[in-house]
Amino acid sequence: MANTDYAYRRLVNTLWPERVSRTEFDRMVYSHDFASLPKVALLQWRLYPDFVVLPQTTEEVASLVKLSDESGLPIVPRGGGTGWYGGAVPVRGGVLIDMRKMSHVRSFDPATRTITVEAGMTWQDVAEYAEARGLTLPSLPTNAMASTVGGGINSDVVGYGSLRNGGLRQVVADLEVVLPDARVLHTAFAGDAGGAYADLTPFFFGAEGTLGVITAATLRLIAKPDLVKPLAYAFKDTPAAATFLGAMVDAGFQPYHAALLDREHFVFERALRAGSPEPADMVLVTLAGAKDDVADQEKALDALAPKLAAAKRPPQEAEDLWAHRFMMYSARRLSRGLVVANNVVPLSRLGEACRLSRELIRKMKLNGAVHAFPMDTASAILAPYVLMDDTTPSGGTALGYVKKLGDAAFELGGHPMGLGLFMVFNLRRMHGRAAPYTAYVKSVFDPGKKINPGKTIEVWTKYQFPGLRAIPPPAMRVGLDVAAALRRIKPTPDKFVRAYERGKEAD
Ligand SMILES: Cc1cc2nc3c(=O)[nH]c(=O)nc-3n(C[C@H](O)[C@H](O)[C@H](O)COP(=O)(O)OP(=O)(O)OC[C@H]3O[C@@H](n4cnc5c(N)ncnc54)[C@H](O)[C@@H]3O)c2cc1C
Repeated sequence: MANTDYAYRRLVNTLWPERVSRTEFDRMVYSHDFASLPKVALLQWRLYPDFVVLPQTTEEVASLVKLSDESGLPIVPRGGGTGWYGGAVPVRGGVLIDMRKMSHVRSFDPATRTITVEAGMTWQDVAEYAEARGLTLPSLPTNAMASTVGGGINSDVVGYGSLRNGGLRQVVADLEVVLPDARVLHTAFAGDAGGAYADLTPFFFGAEGTLGVITAATLRLIAKPDLVKPLAYAFKDTPAAATFLGAMVDAGFQPYHAALLDREHFVFERALRAGSPEPADMVLVTLAGAKDDVADQEKALDALAPKLAAAKRPPQEAEDLWAHRFMMYSARRLSRGLVVANNVVPLSRLGEACRLSRELIRKMKLNGAVHAFPMDTASAILAPYVLMDDTTPSGGTALGYVKKLGDAAFELGGHPMGLGLFMVFNLRRMHGRAAPYTAYVKSVFDPGKKINPGKTIEVWTKYQFPGLRAIPPPAMRVGLDVAAALRRIKPTPDKFVRAYERGKEAD
Protein backbone atom coordinates (compact mmCIF):
# COMPACT_ATOMS: atom_id res chain seq x y z
CA MET A 1 0.00 0.00 0.00
CA ALA A 2 1.29 3.48 -0.90
CA ASN A 3 1.67 5.85 2.04
CA THR A 4 -1.40 7.87 2.94
CA ASP A 5 0.18 11.29 2.29
CA TYR A 6 0.97 10.21 -1.25
CA ALA A 7 -2.53 8.75 -1.67
CA TYR A 8 -3.96 12.06 -0.41
CA ARG A 9 -1.95 14.06 -2.97
CA ARG A 10 -3.11 11.78 -5.78
CA LEU A 11 -6.75 12.19 -4.69
CA VAL A 12 -6.37 15.98 -4.49
CA ASN A 13 -4.85 16.03 -7.97
CA THR A 14 -7.90 14.14 -9.23
CA LEU A 15 -10.69 16.05 -7.44
CA TRP A 16 -9.18 19.29 -6.07
CA PRO A 17 -8.68 19.83 -2.31
CA GLU A 18 -12.22 21.01 -1.55
CA ARG A 19 -13.67 17.64 -2.53
CA VAL A 20 -11.21 15.45 -0.59
CA SER A 21 -11.20 15.30 3.19
CA ARG A 22 -9.22 13.48 5.81
CA THR A 23 -10.20 15.54 8.84
CA GLU A 24 -11.00 13.63 12.02
CA PHE A 25 -14.49 15.12 12.08
CA ASP A 26 -15.45 14.09 8.52
CA ARG A 27 -13.99 10.63 9.01
CA MET A 28 -16.04 10.27 12.20
CA VAL A 29 -19.25 11.42 10.48
CA TYR A 30 -18.80 8.79 7.76
CA SER A 31 -17.91 6.01 10.24
CA HIS A 32 -21.56 5.05 10.65
CA ASP A 33 -24.80 5.04 8.70
CA PHE A 34 -28.33 4.96 10.14
CA ALA A 35 -27.33 1.77 11.97
CA SER A 36 -26.63 2.26 15.63
CA LEU A 37 -23.20 0.81 16.22
CA PRO A 38 -21.95 0.37 19.77
CA LYS A 39 -18.44 1.78 20.31
CA VAL A 40 -17.15 -1.70 20.98
CA ALA A 41 -17.51 -2.31 17.19
CA LEU A 42 -14.29 -0.30 16.72
CA LEU A 43 -12.40 -3.23 18.24
CA GLN A 44 -13.42 -5.33 15.24
CA TRP A 45 -13.60 -2.87 12.35
CA ARG A 46 -11.76 0.22 11.12
CA LEU A 47 -15.01 2.09 10.53
CA TYR A 48 -13.32 5.45 9.93
CA PRO A 49 -12.42 5.90 6.24
CA ASP A 50 -8.94 7.23 5.49
CA PHE A 51 -10.42 9.73 3.02
CA VAL A 52 -13.84 11.03 2.10
CA VAL A 53 -14.19 12.11 -1.54
CA LEU A 54 -17.01 13.80 -3.44
CA PRO A 55 -16.84 13.19 -7.20
CA GLN A 56 -18.96 15.22 -9.63
CA THR A 57 -18.65 13.19 -12.82
CA THR A 58 -18.53 9.58 -13.98
CA GLU A 59 -14.98 10.19 -15.25
CA GLU A 60 -13.92 11.26 -11.75
CA VAL A 61 -15.45 8.11 -10.24
CA ALA A 62 -13.54 6.01 -12.81
CA SER A 63 -10.30 7.82 -11.88
CA LEU A 64 -10.93 7.13 -8.18
CA VAL A 65 -11.43 3.46 -8.91
CA LYS A 66 -8.17 3.39 -10.93
CA LEU A 67 -6.31 5.11 -8.08
CA SER A 68 -7.34 2.37 -5.70
CA ASP A 69 -5.14 -0.07 -7.68
CA GLU A 70 -2.19 2.19 -6.92
CA SER A 71 -2.97 2.88 -3.26
CA GLY A 72 -4.37 -0.54 -2.39
CA LEU A 73 -7.14 1.26 -0.49
CA PRO A 74 -10.63 -0.25 -0.70
CA ILE A 75 -13.51 1.85 -2.00
CA VAL A 76 -16.87 2.25 -0.26
CA PRO A 77 -19.67 3.93 -2.26
CA ARG A 78 -22.22 5.86 -0.21
CA GLY A 79 -25.46 7.71 -0.92
CA GLY A 80 -27.55 9.21 1.89
CA GLY A 81 -26.00 6.89 4.49
CA THR A 82 -29.48 5.86 5.68
CA GLY A 83 -29.02 2.09 5.39
CA TRP A 84 -29.85 0.03 8.46
CA TYR A 85 -27.10 -2.58 8.71
CA GLY A 86 -23.75 -0.88 8.18
CA GLY A 87 -23.60 -1.40 4.40
CA ALA A 88 -22.10 2.04 3.71
CA VAL A 89 -19.35 2.09 6.34
CA PRO A 90 -15.80 0.86 5.79
CA VAL A 91 -14.48 -2.20 7.60
CA ARG A 92 -10.81 -1.48 6.86
CA GLY A 93 -10.79 2.27 6.24
CA GLY A 94 -10.07 3.25 2.63
CA VAL A 95 -11.68 5.78 0.32
CA LEU A 96 -15.33 6.57 0.98
CA ILE A 97 -17.06 7.93 -2.11
CA ASP A 98 -19.96 10.21 -1.15
CA MET A 99 -22.10 10.33 -4.32
CA ARG A 100 -24.33 13.22 -3.34
CA LYS A 101 -22.61 15.82 -5.53
CA MET A 102 -23.75 13.78 -8.52
CA SER A 103 -27.34 14.91 -8.17
CA HIS A 104 -28.40 16.31 -11.54
CA VAL A 105 -30.97 15.39 -14.14
CA ARG A 106 -29.17 14.40 -17.33
CA SER A 107 -32.21 14.14 -19.54
CA PHE A 108 -35.99 14.04 -19.39
CA ASP A 109 -37.96 12.55 -22.25
CA PRO A 110 -41.77 12.86 -22.02
CA ALA A 111 -42.15 10.93 -25.30
CA THR A 112 -40.60 7.72 -23.89
CA ARG A 113 -41.62 8.65 -20.34
CA THR A 114 -38.10 8.26 -19.03
CA ILE A 115 -35.71 10.36 -17.00
CA THR A 116 -31.95 9.89 -16.67
CA VAL A 117 -30.51 11.11 -13.40
CA GLU A 118 -27.21 10.97 -11.58
CA ALA A 119 -27.03 8.38 -8.82
CA GLY A 120 -26.57 10.82 -5.93
CA MET A 121 -29.94 12.50 -6.50
CA THR A 122 -32.59 11.67 -3.90
CA TRP A 123 -35.73 9.84 -4.99
CA GLN A 124 -37.84 12.69 -3.69
CA ASP A 125 -35.97 15.19 -5.86
CA VAL A 126 -36.47 12.95 -8.90
CA ALA A 127 -40.20 12.67 -8.12
CA GLU A 128 -40.56 16.44 -7.69
CA TYR A 129 -38.73 17.14 -10.96
CA ALA A 130 -41.00 14.73 -12.87
CA GLU A 131 -44.17 15.93 -11.12
CA ALA A 132 -43.49 19.53 -12.11
CA ARG A 133 -43.71 18.20 -15.70
CA GLY A 134 -46.90 16.14 -15.31
CA LEU A 135 -45.27 12.74 -14.76
CA THR A 136 -44.18 10.83 -11.66
CA LEU A 137 -42.26 7.77 -10.47
CA PRO A 138 -44.39 4.60 -10.29
CA SER A 139 -42.83 3.79 -6.91
CA LEU A 140 -40.15 5.17 -4.62
CA PRO A 141 -38.51 4.20 -1.30
CA THR A 142 -40.34 5.00 1.94
CA ASN A 143 -37.24 7.03 2.76
CA ALA A 144 -37.33 8.97 -0.53
CA MET A 145 -36.32 12.23 1.16
CA ALA A 146 -32.79 11.02 2.00
CA SER A 147 -32.32 7.84 0.00
CA THR A 148 -30.33 8.35 -3.20
CA VAL A 149 -31.02 6.63 -6.49
CA GLY A 150 -27.80 4.56 -6.22
CA GLY A 151 -28.38 3.69 -2.56
CA GLY A 152 -32.01 2.67 -3.07
CA ILE A 153 -31.15 0.35 -5.98
CA ASN A 154 -28.25 -1.20 -4.06
CA SER A 155 -30.55 -1.79 -1.07
CA ASP A 156 -33.34 -3.21 -3.29
CA VAL A 157 -35.87 -1.13 -1.41
CA VAL A 158 -39.63 -1.24 -1.75
CA GLY A 159 -41.85 1.57 -0.67
CA TYR A 160 -44.58 3.96 -1.73
CA GLY A 161 -46.42 2.91 -4.87
CA SER A 162 -45.05 -0.64 -4.94
CA LEU A 163 -48.37 -2.22 -3.91
CA ARG A 164 -49.98 -0.80 -7.05
CA ASN A 165 -47.11 -0.33 -9.50
CA GLY A 166 -44.39 -2.81 -8.46
CA GLY A 167 -41.04 -2.02 -6.83
CA LEU A 168 -37.89 -0.27 -8.05
CA ARG A 169 -37.06 -3.24 -10.28
CA GLN A 170 -39.94 -2.14 -12.50
CA VAL A 171 -38.79 1.49 -12.38
CA VAL A 172 -35.17 1.14 -13.54
CA ALA A 173 -34.64 0.89 -17.31
CA ASP A 174 -30.83 1.24 -17.44
CA LEU A 175 -27.89 1.85 -15.14
CA GLU A 176 -24.52 3.45 -15.77
CA VAL A 177 -21.99 1.73 -13.53
CA VAL A 178 -18.25 2.24 -13.02
CA LEU A 179 -16.98 -1.32 -12.65
CA PRO A 180 -14.07 -2.27 -10.36
CA ASP A 181 -11.73 -2.28 -13.42
CA ALA A 182 -12.78 1.37 -14.06
CA ARG A 183 -14.71 0.57 -17.24
CA VAL A 184 -18.15 2.15 -17.61
CA LEU A 185 -20.98 -0.32 -18.15
CA HIS A 186 -24.53 0.33 -19.35
CA THR A 187 -26.67 -2.49 -18.01
CA ALA A 188 -29.41 -2.32 -20.65
CA PHE A 189 -29.90 -1.20 -24.25
CA ALA A 190 -30.57 2.55 -24.30
CA GLY A 191 -33.50 2.40 -26.73
CA ASP A 192 -35.24 -0.29 -24.72
CA ALA A 193 -37.16 1.42 -21.95
CA GLY A 194 -39.45 -1.64 -21.85
CA GLY A 195 -36.54 -3.90 -20.92
CA ALA A 196 -37.12 -6.63 -23.52
CA TYR A 197 -33.46 -7.21 -24.44
CA ALA A 198 -30.43 -8.58 -22.56
CA ASP A 199 -30.32 -6.74 -19.29
CA LEU A 200 -27.67 -6.85 -16.56
CA THR A 201 -29.59 -4.46 -14.31
CA PRO A 202 -30.91 -7.13 -11.89
CA PHE A 203 -27.34 -7.90 -10.71
CA PHE A 204 -27.20 -4.47 -9.10
CA PHE A 205 -30.46 -4.67 -7.13
CA GLY A 206 -29.50 -5.42 -3.56
CA ALA A 207 -25.77 -5.63 -4.41
CA GLU A 208 -25.14 -3.27 -1.48
CA GLY A 209 -22.32 -1.46 -3.24
CA THR A 210 -20.20 -4.57 -3.77
CA LEU A 211 -20.21 -4.85 -7.60
CA GLY A 212 -19.49 -1.34 -8.85
CA VAL A 213 -20.35 2.31 -8.38
CA ILE A 214 -23.66 3.30 -9.98
CA THR A 215 -23.23 6.78 -11.46
CA ALA A 216 -26.54 7.27 -13.29
CA ALA A 217 -29.90 5.59 -13.87
CA THR A 218 -32.62 5.82 -16.48
CA LEU A 219 -36.00 5.55 -14.77
CA ARG A 220 -39.47 4.89 -16.14
CA LEU A 221 -42.22 7.38 -15.38
CA ILE A 222 -46.01 7.31 -15.39
CA ALA A 223 -48.68 10.00 -15.59
CA LYS A 224 -49.10 12.00 -12.39
CA PRO A 225 -52.46 11.18 -10.73
CA ASP A 226 -55.09 13.96 -10.53
CA LEU A 227 -55.55 13.42 -6.82
CA VAL A 228 -53.66 11.83 -3.91
CA LYS A 229 -55.89 11.31 -0.89
CA PRO A 230 -54.79 9.78 2.43
CA LEU A 231 -57.34 8.15 4.77
CA ALA A 232 -56.75 6.95 8.33
CA TYR A 233 -58.58 4.24 10.28
CA ALA A 234 -58.08 3.27 13.94
CA PHE A 235 -58.44 -0.34 15.17
CA LYS A 236 -58.87 -2.09 18.49
CA ASP A 237 -55.46 -3.82 18.18
CA THR A 238 -52.58 -4.45 15.76
CA PRO A 239 -53.75 -7.86 14.42
CA ALA A 240 -57.14 -6.28 13.53
CA ALA A 241 -55.31 -3.56 11.59
CA ALA A 242 -53.25 -6.26 9.81
CA THR A 243 -56.44 -8.19 8.95
CA PHE A 244 -57.86 -5.02 7.39
CA LEU A 245 -54.81 -4.70 5.11
CA GLY A 246 -55.24 -8.31 3.94
CA ALA A 247 -59.01 -7.90 3.48
CA MET A 248 -58.47 -4.72 1.49
CA VAL A 249 -56.05 -6.44 -0.91
CA ASP A 250 -58.27 -9.55 -1.18
CA ALA A 251 -61.25 -7.34 -2.06
CA GLY A 252 -59.27 -6.03 -5.06
CA PHE A 253 -58.46 -2.53 -3.79
CA GLN A 254 -55.35 -1.07 -5.36
CA PRO A 255 -54.38 1.91 -3.23
CA TYR A 256 -51.13 3.75 -3.93
CA HIS A 257 -49.92 2.79 -0.45
CA ALA A 258 -51.31 1.30 2.75
CA ALA A 259 -49.41 1.02 6.03
CA LEU A 260 -49.96 -0.10 9.57
CA LEU A 261 -48.50 1.88 12.46
CA ASP A 262 -49.09 0.57 15.93
CA ARG A 263 -50.14 2.47 19.05
CA GLU A 264 -46.59 2.66 20.44
CA HIS A 265 -45.44 4.60 17.39
CA PHE A 266 -47.91 7.34 18.28
CA VAL A 267 -46.91 7.24 21.95
CA PHE A 268 -43.38 8.15 20.84
CA GLU A 269 -44.68 10.79 18.43
CA ARG A 270 -46.85 12.34 21.18
CA ALA A 271 -43.85 12.63 23.49
CA LEU A 272 -42.04 14.60 20.77
CA ARG A 273 -44.82 16.53 19.04
CA ALA A 274 -47.91 17.68 20.94
CA GLY A 275 -50.15 17.91 17.86
CA SER A 276 -49.55 14.35 16.67
CA PRO A 277 -52.52 11.91 16.52
CA GLU A 278 -54.07 10.30 19.60
CA PRO A 279 -52.24 6.93 20.06
CA ALA A 280 -54.08 3.99 18.45
CA ASP A 281 -53.36 1.06 16.13
CA MET A 282 -53.83 2.75 12.78
CA VAL A 283 -53.89 2.04 9.07
CA LEU A 284 -53.05 4.83 6.66
CA VAL A 285 -54.40 4.18 3.15
CA THR A 286 -53.35 6.52 0.35
CA LEU A 287 -55.50 6.56 -2.76
CA ALA A 288 -54.32 8.06 -6.02
CA GLY A 289 -55.98 8.54 -9.39
CA ALA A 290 -58.83 10.36 -11.06
CA LYS A 291 -61.10 12.30 -8.68
CA ASP A 292 -64.20 10.12 -9.23
CA ASP A 293 -62.25 6.92 -8.93
CA VAL A 294 -60.67 8.06 -5.63
CA ALA A 295 -64.13 9.03 -4.29
CA ASP A 296 -65.56 5.59 -5.24
CA GLN A 297 -62.65 3.79 -3.57
CA GLU A 298 -63.01 5.88 -0.42
CA LYS A 299 -66.69 4.99 -0.19
CA ALA A 300 -65.95 1.28 -0.61
CA LEU A 301 -63.19 1.39 2.02
CA ASP A 302 -65.45 3.24 4.44
CA ALA A 303 -67.93 0.37 3.99
CA LEU A 304 -65.26 -2.28 4.61
CA ALA A 305 -63.78 -0.63 7.72
CA PRO A 306 -66.75 -1.12 10.15
CA LYS A 307 -66.72 -4.86 9.37
CA LEU A 308 -63.38 -4.91 11.19
CA ALA A 309 -64.55 -2.52 13.91
CA ALA A 310 -62.44 0.29 12.53
CA ALA A 311 -63.17 3.95 13.20
CA LYS A 312 -62.33 6.49 10.51
CA ARG A 313 -60.08 9.32 11.70
CA PRO A 314 -60.64 12.97 10.71
CA PRO A 315 -59.25 13.97 7.27
CA GLN A 316 -56.82 16.42 8.87
CA GLU A 317 -55.22 13.59 10.85
CA ALA A 318 -54.76 11.50 7.70
CA GLU A 319 -53.23 14.51 5.89
CA ASP A 320 -50.87 15.05 8.82
CA LEU A 321 -49.75 11.40 8.82
CA TRP A 322 -49.13 11.50 5.07
CA ALA A 323 -47.23 14.80 5.34
CA HIS A 324 -44.98 13.20 7.99
CA ARG A 325 -44.46 9.97 6.06
CA PHE A 326 -40.71 10.52 5.63
CA MET A 327 -40.19 11.16 9.36
CA MET A 328 -40.76 7.60 10.52
CA TYR A 329 -38.06 7.47 13.16
CA SER A 330 -38.36 10.67 15.19
CA ALA A 331 -38.37 8.36 18.24
CA ARG A 332 -34.62 8.12 17.83
CA ARG A 333 -34.47 11.42 19.72
CA LEU A 334 -35.95 9.74 22.81
CA SER A 335 -32.98 7.40 23.20
CA ARG A 336 -29.66 7.76 21.45
CA GLY A 337 -30.14 5.21 18.74
CA LEU A 338 -32.68 3.11 16.94
CA VAL A 339 -32.59 -0.09 14.99
CA VAL A 340 -35.06 -1.37 12.41
CA ALA A 341 -35.79 -5.06 11.84
CA ASN A 342 -36.62 -5.23 8.13
CA ASN A 343 -38.40 -8.39 6.94
CA VAL A 344 -40.72 -9.73 4.27
CA VAL A 345 -43.60 -11.93 5.49
CA PRO A 346 -46.61 -13.45 3.72
CA LEU A 347 -49.44 -10.89 3.79
CA SER A 348 -51.80 -13.63 4.99
CA ARG A 349 -49.66 -13.99 8.15
CA LEU A 350 -49.10 -10.32 8.86
CA GLY A 351 -51.38 -10.31 11.95
CA GLU A 352 -49.36 -13.16 13.48
CA ALA A 353 -46.11 -11.42 12.52
CA CYS A 354 -47.21 -8.18 14.22
CA ARG A 355 -48.16 -10.08 17.35
CA LEU A 356 -44.75 -11.81 17.41
CA SER A 357 -42.98 -8.46 16.88
CA ARG A 358 -44.69 -6.99 19.94
CA GLU A 359 -44.15 -10.11 22.05
CA LEU A 360 -40.43 -10.00 21.31
CA ILE A 361 -40.28 -6.30 22.18
CA ARG A 362 -41.87 -7.11 25.54
CA LYS A 363 -39.75 -10.17 26.27
CA MET A 364 -36.57 -8.28 25.43
CA LYS A 365 -37.64 -5.36 27.65
CA LEU A 366 -37.30 -2.90 24.78
CA ASN A 367 -39.20 0.20 23.73
CA GLY A 368 -40.36 -0.19 20.17
CA ALA A 369 -43.13 0.13 17.60
CA VAL A 370 -44.50 -1.91 14.70
CA HIS A 371 -44.63 -0.61 11.13
CA ALA A 372 -45.76 -2.80 8.23
CA PHE A 373 -47.12 -2.44 4.70
CA PRO A 374 -48.18 -4.73 1.84
CA MET A 375 -45.51 -4.65 -0.88
CA ASP A 376 -47.64 -6.60 -3.37
CA THR A 377 -50.76 -8.73 -3.22
CA ALA A 378 -48.96 -11.66 -1.55
CA SER A 379 -46.26 -10.20 0.71
CA ALA A 380 -45.81 -7.50 3.29
CA ILE A 381 -42.86 -5.60 4.68
CA LEU A 382 -42.68 -5.99 8.45
CA ALA A 383 -40.32 -3.34 9.81
CA PRO A 384 -40.72 -2.76 13.55
CA TYR A 385 -38.15 -0.53 15.21
CA VAL A 386 -36.70 -0.54 18.71
CA LEU A 387 -34.92 2.20 20.62
CA MET A 388 -31.43 1.72 22.00
CA ASP A 389 -28.81 3.76 23.77
CA ASP A 390 -25.69 3.02 21.77
CA THR A 391 -23.50 5.13 24.08
CA THR A 392 -23.69 2.39 26.73
CA PRO A 393 -22.05 -1.01 26.27
CA SER A 394 -25.36 -2.79 26.99
CA GLY A 395 -27.24 -0.63 24.42
CA GLY A 396 -25.96 -2.67 21.47
CA THR A 397 -27.73 -5.77 22.77
CA ALA A 398 -30.90 -4.35 21.17
CA LEU A 399 -29.45 -5.58 17.85
CA GLY A 400 -30.42 -9.05 19.09
CA TYR A 401 -34.01 -8.04 18.30
CA VAL A 402 -33.23 -7.82 14.57
CA LYS A 403 -31.79 -11.33 14.66
CA LYS A 404 -34.70 -12.84 16.59
CA LEU A 405 -37.36 -11.21 14.43
CA GLY A 406 -35.49 -12.38 11.32
CA ASP A 407 -35.71 -15.96 12.68
CA ALA A 408 -39.44 -15.48 13.24
CA ALA A 409 -39.83 -14.18 9.65
CA PHE A 410 -38.19 -17.37 8.28
CA GLU A 411 -40.58 -19.46 10.36
CA LEU A 412 -43.55 -17.54 8.98
CA GLY A 413 -42.44 -18.31 5.43
CA GLY A 414 -40.71 -14.97 4.81
CA HIS A 415 -37.17 -13.72 5.33
CA PRO A 416 -35.15 -10.76 6.64
CA MET A 417 -34.10 -8.01 4.18
CA GLY A 418 -30.64 -6.43 3.99
CA LEU A 419 -27.28 -8.00 4.82
CA GLY A 420 -24.75 -5.16 5.13
CA LEU A 421 -22.22 -5.87 7.82
CA PHE A 422 -24.27 -7.44 10.62
CA MET A 423 -26.72 -9.75 8.90
CA VAL A 424 -24.43 -11.66 6.51
CA PHE A 425 -25.23 -14.93 8.28
CA ASN A 426 -28.74 -14.77 6.78
CA LEU A 427 -27.43 -15.09 3.20
CA ARG A 428 -27.29 -18.89 3.14
CA ARG A 429 -30.68 -19.28 4.83
CA MET A 430 -32.24 -16.80 2.39
CA HIS A 431 -30.77 -18.16 -0.80
CA GLY A 432 -30.03 -21.80 0.07
CA ARG A 433 -27.95 -23.52 -2.57
CA ALA A 434 -27.84 -20.35 -4.69
CA ALA A 435 -25.80 -18.55 -1.99
CA PRO A 436 -22.35 -19.59 -3.32
CA TYR A 437 -23.25 -18.03 -6.69
CA THR A 438 -23.50 -14.64 -4.99
CA ALA A 439 -19.82 -14.98 -4.12
CA TYR A 440 -19.16 -16.11 -7.69
CA VAL A 441 -20.87 -13.02 -9.13
CA LYS A 442 -18.73 -10.84 -6.85
CA SER A 443 -15.56 -12.61 -8.06
CA VAL A 444 -16.52 -12.01 -11.71
CA PHE A 445 -17.20 -8.29 -11.26
CA ASP A 446 -14.58 -7.58 -8.60
CA PRO A 447 -11.87 -10.26 -8.50
CA GLY A 448 -9.53 -7.97 -6.53
CA LYS A 449 -12.18 -7.30 -3.83
CA LYS A 450 -11.78 -3.53 -4.19
CA ILE A 451 -15.35 -2.29 -3.94
CA ASN A 452 -17.03 -2.42 -0.52
CA PRO A 453 -15.20 -5.60 0.41
CA GLY A 454 -15.88 -7.71 3.48
CA LYS A 455 -19.67 -7.31 3.43
CA THR A 456 -22.81 -9.24 2.31
CA ILE A 457 -20.97 -12.53 1.57
CA GLU A 458 -18.22 -12.42 4.23
CA VAL A 459 -17.41 -10.23 7.21
CA TRP A 460 -13.88 -8.84 7.19
CA THR A 461 -12.31 -7.45 10.35
CA LYS A 462 -9.71 -4.67 10.48
CA TYR A 463 -6.98 -7.24 11.17
CA GLN A 464 -4.84 -8.66 8.39
CA PHE A 465 -3.38 -11.64 10.29
CA PRO A 466 -4.35 -15.14 9.22
CA GLY A 467 -7.12 -16.50 11.42
CA LEU A 468 -8.32 -13.00 12.42
CA ARG A 469 -9.05 -11.54 8.97
CA ALA A 470 -12.74 -12.42 8.95
CA ILE A 471 -15.53 -13.27 11.35
CA PRO A 472 -17.25 -16.50 10.31
CA PRO A 473 -20.92 -15.57 9.68
CA PRO A 474 -22.14 -18.28 12.15
CA ALA A 475 -20.11 -16.51 14.87
CA MET A 476 -21.98 -13.25 14.10
CA ARG A 477 -25.23 -15.17 14.40
CA VAL A 478 -24.23 -16.61 17.79
CA GLY A 479 -23.08 -13.12 18.90
CA LEU A 480 -26.51 -11.67 18.17
CA ASP A 481 -28.24 -14.63 19.88
CA VAL A 482 -26.14 -13.89 22.97
CA ALA A 483 -27.10 -10.19 22.71
CA ALA A 484 -30.79 -11.21 22.60
CA ALA A 485 -30.34 -13.53 25.61
CA LEU A 486 -28.64 -10.71 27.57
CA ARG A 487 -31.62 -8.46 26.84
CA ARG A 488 -34.01 -11.05 28.23
CA ILE A 489 -32.15 -11.38 31.54
CA LYS A 490 -31.87 -7.60 31.92
CA PRO A 491 -33.69 -6.91 35.19
CA THR A 492 -35.63 -3.78 34.12
CA PRO A 493 -37.33 -2.71 30.89
CA ASP A 494 -36.02 0.32 28.96
CA LYS A 495 -38.01 3.44 29.76
CA PHE A 496 -36.90 6.00 27.19
CA VAL A 497 -40.22 7.82 26.93
CA ARG A 498 -40.49 8.43 30.65
CA ALA A 499 -36.83 9.42 30.89
CA TYR A 500 -37.43 11.92 28.08
CA GLU A 501 -40.55 13.34 29.76
CA ARG A 502 -38.61 13.72 33.04
CA GLY A 503 -35.79 15.48 31.16
CA LYS A 504 -38.30 17.92 29.62
CA GLU A 505 -39.77 18.71 33.06
CA ALA A 506 -36.30 19.34 34.47
CA ASP A 507 -35.44 21.86 31.67
C1 LIG B 1 -36.98 6.70 7.35
C2 LIG B 1 -36.34 5.51 6.70
C3 LIG B 1 -37.13 4.63 5.98
C4 LIG B 1 -36.55 3.55 5.34
N1 LIG B 1 -37.36 2.70 4.66
C5 LIG B 1 -36.81 1.63 4.04
C6 LIG B 1 -37.63 0.70 3.36
O1 LIG B 1 -38.85 0.83 3.30
N2 LIG B 1 -37.05 -0.36 2.78
C7 LIG B 1 -35.69 -0.56 2.85
O2 LIG B 1 -35.19 -1.55 2.30
N3 LIG B 1 -34.89 0.32 3.46
C8 LIG B 1 -35.41 1.38 4.07
N4 LIG B 1 -34.61 2.24 4.75
C9 LIG B 1 -33.18 2.02 4.78
C10 LIG B 1 -32.45 2.92 3.73
O3 LIG B 1 -32.96 4.22 3.78
C11 LIG B 1 -32.61 2.45 2.33
O4 LIG B 1 -31.98 1.23 2.22
C12 LIG B 1 -32.06 3.50 1.36
O5 LIG B 1 -32.61 3.30 0.10
C13 LIG B 1 -30.60 3.59 1.27
O6 LIG B 1 -30.26 4.69 0.44
P1 LIG B 1 -28.99 5.59 0.74
O7 LIG B 1 -28.81 6.51 -0.41
O8 LIG B 1 -29.07 6.21 2.08
O9 LIG B 1 -27.86 4.48 0.70
P2 LIG B 1 -26.62 4.25 1.69
O10 LIG B 1 -27.11 3.92 3.07
O11 LIG B 1 -25.68 5.36 1.56
O12 LIG B 1 -26.03 2.96 1.04
C14 LIG B 1 -26.74 1.73 1.02
C15 LIG B 1 -25.89 0.69 0.28
O13 LIG B 1 -25.80 1.07 -1.09
C16 LIG B 1 -24.43 1.28 -1.48
N5 LIG B 1 -24.44 2.44 -2.38
C17 LIG B 1 -24.91 3.68 -2.14
N6 LIG B 1 -24.82 4.44 -3.25
C18 LIG B 1 -24.24 3.67 -4.21
C19 LIG B 1 -23.86 3.89 -5.56
N7 LIG B 1 -24.08 5.04 -6.18
N8 LIG B 1 -23.28 2.86 -6.23
C20 LIG B 1 -23.06 1.68 -5.62
N9 LIG B 1 -23.41 1.41 -4.35
C21 LIG B 1 -24.00 2.40 -3.66
C22 LIG B 1 -23.66 1.48 -0.20
O14 LIG B 1 -22.33 1.05 -0.31
C23 LIG B 1 -24.46 0.61 0.78
O15 LIG B 1 -24.04 -0.72 0.71
C24 LIG B 1 -35.15 3.34 5.42
C25 LIG B 1 -34.37 4.21 6.17
C26 LIG B 1 -34.94 5.28 6.82
C27 LIG B 1 -34.06 6.20 7.62
